Amino acid sequence: MPSDRDPIAAIATAPGRGGIGVVRVSSPDDLAPLIQALLGRALTPRHAHYLPFRDAGGALIDQGIALYFPAPHSYTGEHVLELQGHGGPVVLRSLLARCLEAGAQAGLRLAEPGEFTRRAFLNDRLDLAQAEAVADLIDASSEAAARSAAASMTGAFSREVNALADRIVHLRMLVEATLDFPEEEIDFLEKYQAGETLAGIREDLARLVAQARQGAILREGLHVVLAGQPNVGKSSLLNALAGFDAAIVTPIAGTTRDKVVQEISIDGVPLHVIDTAGLRETADEVERIGIARTWEEIARADVILHIVDATRPEEELDAGIAARLPAGTPVVEVVNKIDLLGEGDAAALAGSAGKAEEPASAAARRIGVSALTGRGLDVLRAELLGIAGWNPSGESPYLARERHLQALRRAGERLEAAAEHAALDDRVLDLFAEELRLAHLELGGITGEFSSDDLLGVIFSRFCIGK
Ligand code: GDP
Ligand code: ZN
Repeated sequence: MPSDRDPIAAIATAPGRGGIGVVRVSSPDDLAPLIQALLGRALTPRHAHYLPFRDAGGALIDQGIALYFPAPHSYTGEHVLELQGHGGPVVLRSLLARCLEAGAQAGLRLAEPGEFTRRAFLNDRLDLAQAEAVADLIDASSEAAARSAAASMTGAFSREVNALADRIVHLRMLVEATLDFPEEEIDFLEKYQAGETLAGIREDLARLVAQARQGAILREGLHVVLAGQPNVGKSSLLNALAGFDAAIVTPIAGTTRDKVVQEISIDGVPLHVIDTAGLRETADEVERIGIARTWEEIARADVILHIVDATRPEEELDAGIAARLPAGTPVVEVVNKIDLLGEGDAAALAGSAGKAEEPASAAARRIGVSALTGRGLDVLRAELLGIAGWNPSGESPYLARERHLQALRRAGERLEAAAEHAALDDRVLDLFAEELRLAHLELGGITGEFSSDDLLGVIFSRFCIGK
């Protein structure tokens, strides 16, 4: 791992063409010499200077804006120089090369992925959960996800985690003090209402877990599989569910043929929808790769929609596909085209007041819809989100990661163990204190108060370069 003391530089804006592109330089050491060499003049801190950017021979590379943020008031907490030029790949590469050249003597090197944000973390500009939220905000695939990421980025989630940690530490300090003065040990639990305090902490932790779980759904999205015979209306249903979002269609990176996953969103929850129509025997290598990917997606399915045509005698889901669908994944049987039925039958199938018909077997729920008229779609949407555990009436979610969720859960287990000790009596105060300490450790891992270099490496290497 290159040193965290090196000056670093990178293109901070996305690859490709854009109106503006930014080259960013960050260094723990004074940037004034580099600025002088690069621009032939000094810069006033935090002022926009409109300047020519020239190569070493004096030829014009671009004309743009230079900004200088002396430490510690910058994104990384170090001295930062930002050059905003025109957003073309050639221009920006030339600008970056010129920076590296001008800073070569000072050891200026290309930044690793996420290294700017890593420095922001190391310099206490943001904690680990906030740093992760930066990446999540960039990757957010729906408005709701972006809003939750922004809340986490500005520290709302971290503040809740820290507040819980503080309450745990406070309780533990009381216990430890009692342990140091054994004569006072009598009736500690009662005297300090330790049981009640702990119960309050556990309640708030459970609430935070629920919010983080909602955020995890927003972050990961739901994997939905559309299965059924040709012409039952899978594509029509997908478009109807997507509504205004139908235009957002992204192929999985790396496949050149056949988009296998369509991205839509329902109430701001991103859905990755896979149409099983493309699953067929083929000799075509490229198509085979696409199909293998499709099965990978299906293995991660949160819910399977088995679509049948209301006017046709019920045919079984293609046996081959059915046999390979992951066992235990919830299945919703969707009876489409109920607009072609008489009103009595249609009404019975469509359900009423947001309540789907109880399924005959516990395995599948049955919902009648019409992709054509939209009837029953609200029930289907609610069912889909409900199965996935989405609870829109709950408190605003935090775009937490699986890592955070697991740490919160483990902290909860520690507190549960502590509560069991407390239920015994004061003779196990030391065990009670130990569980509190371990719960605190778990929470500290979320914000990076206690975190290993390995973990930091894993987290920041998943960022893009320049962030
Ligand atoms: P897929 O092969 O399963 O994707 O089915 P399509 O979405 O391509 O639909 C097959 C045919 O059924 C098309 O002609 C659609 O217009 C029609 N269709 C789909 N949904 C409905 C519906 O709810 N009502 C009626 N009346 N026709 C539908
Ligand atoms: Zn289709």
